[in-house]
Amino acid sequence: MELENLSVMHSNALNKSIVTINSKRKTGYVYRFGQMTKNRYRCCRCRELGKQRCINIIDGTVTGRKDPEADHHPDCEPLALSGVVATELDRSMRSEVRKIFFR
Ligand SMILES: [Zn+2]
Repeated sequence: MELENLSVMHSNALNKSIVTINSKRKTGYVYRFGQMTKNRYRCCRCRELGKQRCINIIDGTVTGRKDPEADHHPDCEPLALSGVVATELDRSMRSEVRKIFFR
């Protein structure tokens, strides 16, 4: 798994605990994974659908032989990157505002 397939995003709590994995089947679409423990991340959509789909990320790289795109809930579809980026920009801005006003 190459590094550019993975980016770290802000979660609702405004810390860096969401990663996105580029879909290979659908260009311009990504899967979002939320951090559970230091190296363990769980698919956000699968969690909503009641399925546990976890990946391990160590030093910015997805480890293990299993394709991070495989074995999701049947209704778990990747999200359009454009929408994810818009959300991320909004969160980054709020995070910046927090740094200014709450330091
Ligand atoms: Zn999933």
